[in-house]
Amino acid sequence: MFDKFNDECGVFGIFGHPEAANLTYLGLYALQHRGQESCGIVASDGTRLRGHRSYGLVADVFKKDEIFAGLPGRSAIGHVRYSTAGGSDVRNCQPISVEYHRGGIAVAHNGNLVNASELRNALEQSGSIFSTTADTEVIVHLLARAQCDSLGDRVVEALRQVRGAYSLVFLTETRLVAVRDPNGFRPLCLGKLDGAYVVASETCAFDLIEAEFIREIEPGEMVVIDKNGLKSFLPFDKTTPSPCIFEFIYFARPDSTIFGREVYNVRKEFGRQLAREHAVDADVVMAVPDSGMPAAIGYAEESGIPFQLGLIRNHYIGRTFIEPSQSIRHFGVKIKLNPVREVIEGKRVVVVDDSIVRGTTSRKIIKMIRAAGAAEVHMRVSSPPTAFPCYYGIDTPSRKELIASSHSVEEINRYITSDTVGYLTPEGLRAATGCMAGESYSFCDACFTGQYPVRFPRLKADSQLGLF
Ligand code: SF4
Repeated sequence: MFDKFNDECGVFGIFGHPEAANLTYLGLYALQHRGQESCGIVASDGTRLRGHRSYGLVADVFKKDEIFAGLPGRSAIGHVRYSTAGGSDVRNCQPISVEYHRGGIAVAHNGNLVNASELRNALEQSGSIFSTTADTEVIVHLLARAQCDSLGDRVVEALRQVRGAYSLVFLTETRLVAVRDPNGFRPLCLGKLDGAYVVASETCAFDLIEAEFIREIEPGEMVVIDKNGLKSFLPFDKTTPSPCIFEFIYFARPDSTIFGREVYNVRKEFGRQLAREHAVDADVVMAVPDSGMPAAIGYAEESGIPFQLGLIRNHYIGRTFIEPSQSIRHFGVKIKLNPVREVIEGKRVVVVDDSIVRGTTSRKIIKMIRAAGAAEVHMRVSSPPTAFPCYYGIDTPSRKELIASSHSVEEINRYITSDTVGYLTPEGLRAATGCMAGESYSFCDACFTGQYPVRFPRLKADSQLGLF
């Protein structure tokens, strides 16, 4: 039912607001799409850090008033998580919070460190004892060992040793630090609310709490916030930024602004470009909801073929949904989607989805659309074929499970049983972002091209990084 790449995490932080924990709860609620497995909040009252973390959705984990009563203070950070690095283990729920010789520190991480395994081995050899299996804990150990005086310098000393993707928010009793890796793989935004600074993975978190979006934290930038205000640093060696283009395709919410563009408009432009690259005679354009919606609207606008809601999604299916019993038949994708026969019957249909990962869901959806009476089904995909796994904070299946790694477009067309299939080209994808500000700025598109912008240790060719 969920044949998609999965974003692993979302982060939020606020400094200097009397409702810090409550606002963090709301911020995480808005970022729930970035991780549904576990969540947590750590708050500071200026003298001590207190936290609450658990498995479950934000609204379920933080539903009791006494939890908020246990999170007093004017600053807080929060995290939503969908695990890969470190696996599913309650100890890996974030924010990670520890006491060390300089006091308390908590950290929330969106991304994935490609050299975490090497660093962890070295730390363990020299006596470190780890309490989680998450790559993020490596940063905490490096920071605790750093020989500098200021928190900012310790964070920089730690992060100079790691490679990969990180949008991080740290909280101590008196400071909040937010950092984005030099490649800027994951988004991280800065806002303000009633004089308090707010940071979040996406601007949709600011919209909910009515915070003002100031700007994005730049690739390689660190901001340190304390009672004296905000200071910005660029402490890392400069490199060409390579933000994740898949944030535009699927991960980010369409009502967010990231990497300098409104996600909704970029997604619609993907659809327009797709219509230019793969035109077809058809009667109706429809989306695989919800993520295919903006691109389908763009496709319809560009092609002049009317857009209709041909598939309706049940929004009340949780990740933990289990079919009631093997004694009744397997319902598969019908649990999640239902076709609108009046829209489809006798029509030549264009179906727009944002990506095809294994192809299994597309095949079921097309079968469902044909059963509803479609005369023809033309699949259009608003991204190129996904043929390579991600090592920068996205949960992807192993390479051999990615249908495009071993099948041509024509073979995929046969497998999913469409009349035709058309993918957006990598060039069309890049052009449609409209963000090409010259040679100093490009996007990571490694899951389409295999061109990885940050090197990683030798891996089994068909697997994601196996951490710990
Ligand atoms: S490999 Fe794909 S999903 Fe991973 S960061 Fe690059 S573009 Fe994003």
